[in-house]
Amino acid sequence: MRHIFGAYAYGAGPRTGCWWDETAPLPDWPAAEGALKADVVVIGGGFTGLNAALTLAQAGTDVVVLDAMYPGWGASGRNGGFCCLGGGRRSFKSLAAEFGPQAAHDFFATERASIDHVGALLDRFSIDADRHSNGETKLAHTKSRLQELEREADEIATEGWDNPVVTGPADLPGIGIGGNFHGALTVRTGFALNPRKYVLGLAAAAAGAGARIFAQSPVTGTKKTGNGWTVSTPAGTVTADAVLIATNGYSSEDLPDWLSARYMPAQSTVLVTRPITAEEQAAQGWTTDQMCYDTRRLLHYFRLMPDGRFLFGMRGGIRSTPGAEAQARARTRRDFDRMFPQWAGVSSTHSWSGFVCLARRLMPFVGAVPGSAGMYAAMAYHGNGVAMGSLSGHLMARQILGHDDEVPVTMRRPLTRFPFGRFRRVVMPAAYASYALADL
Ligand SMILES: Cc1cc2nc3c(=O)[nH]c(=O)nc-3n(C[C@H](O)[C@H](O)[C@H](O)COP(=O)(O)OP(=O)(O)OC[C@H]3O[C@@H](n4cnc5c(N)ncnc54)[C@H](O)[C@@H]3O)c2cc1C
Repeated sequence: MRHIFGAYAYGAGPRTGCWWDETAPLPDWPAAEGALKADVVVIGGGFTGLNAALTLAQAGTDVVVLDAMYPGWGASGRNGGFCCLGGGRRSFKSLAAEFGPQAAHDFFATERASIDHVGALLDRFSIDADRHSNGETKLAHTKSRLQELEREADEIATEGWDNPVVTGPADLPGIGIGGNFHGALTVRTGFALNPRKYVLGLAAAAAGAGARIFAQSPVTGTKKTGNGWTVSTPAGTVTADAVLIATNGYSSEDLPDWLSARYMPAQSTVLVTRPITAEEQAAQGWTTDQMCYDTRRLLHYFRLMPDGRFLFGMRGGIRSTPGAEAQARARTRRDFDRMFPQWAGVSSTHSWSGFVCLARRLMPFVGAVPGSAGMYAAMAYHGNGVAMGSLSGHLMARQILGHDDEVPVTMRRPLTRFPFGRFRRVVMPAAYASYALADL
């Protein structure tokens, strides 16, 4: 496996200190051994791979899931738990110009459908994932951004979506929001959850439907064999008619070779505090359990969780080494202190990092890998894959089952290459610097 970051990024280091790990025990999945056969083999046991496995298994397909570490080890078990919009990063106007207004409309409808998809899974499989928050709230970090939020609310209202509500600065305390914010836009779409409880519930549902799930089974190679594929792990092989790549930010340049330079892993770092008392919440003026983020391009995302702990996240570092990880965690704490000064004495008991995945066209990809019959990929949710990754896995499975027309046309166009090939990370410092300037 050829990765574009050093080995530290793909090991235990960035994940150490993840709060979610303390909230639910892992089942004991076996490693894949010997020569296995299946109809479909899924590489990657996160929201994408497990949703695909569930849908395939429910349709009577014999499916094997292989994860290099264990299901939920990647971003799916260590994210902020915002089940929200934002899997693509393109505006309506830009999508309409490329694909036509109907296709643009369909994509935004799909984003909303992805949230309903997760809600329905939680209900259907009785997954108790500590769900809270009635939609999401975006907070203006400058006065001019409040005007942008007002324009955004008008656009959303014109589309007839989400019933947007703008709150001026004077009314923020009344909705439990305290801090240096200049107003808010709330849409009643989305909710927050405990991602580990969701991913483990999903794995149990997929296994219950007949999927065979293996941990500690890194796929080291894929080979076309007859009408299908054989994938290799250190202790075995799986031969199947179809293979699905569901590795997102943890992808490799050579799995398959086509993927080389077509995805950009980017780090995100999170901290979780000890439970904050009611008095401390009142002192900061923050009492809402609404999931929130600010209007910075390098945004912060945060929410008060049902147990009183506060989760606060932001972009991570550009490098991934023990030193860079320590700096990213310190920077996250520094921004938290700046935004929530009354909680300077509240310790952050947990902090960790992980990879999200960007595409050059700023849209998720769900579809067939060009030139490799029977190989598929679903990935690139731009840091918002709780909902979109889940629906993408499901849609990918539906396509494999022969329902070709359910993936929106905007998500079918294959991933294109970033400049600079395997050295593409060199663009990130400049991109982050320009975003930081725009955030002033
Ligand atoms: C810190 C952080 C905060 C985030 N917050 C949010 C949020 O609040 N809301 C939101 O919507 N999104 C958030 N995201 C993004 C979201 O978590 C991801 O988009 C989503 O989890 C992607 O799911 P996935 O299944 O595609 O990939 P992943 O969950 O990353 O799973 C990929 C899996 O592939 C496995 N793998 C890789 N290579 C191989 C191989 N060769 N063989 C076998 N297995 C392999 C890995 O072990 C891994 O388990 C966040 C991400 C991070 C890192």
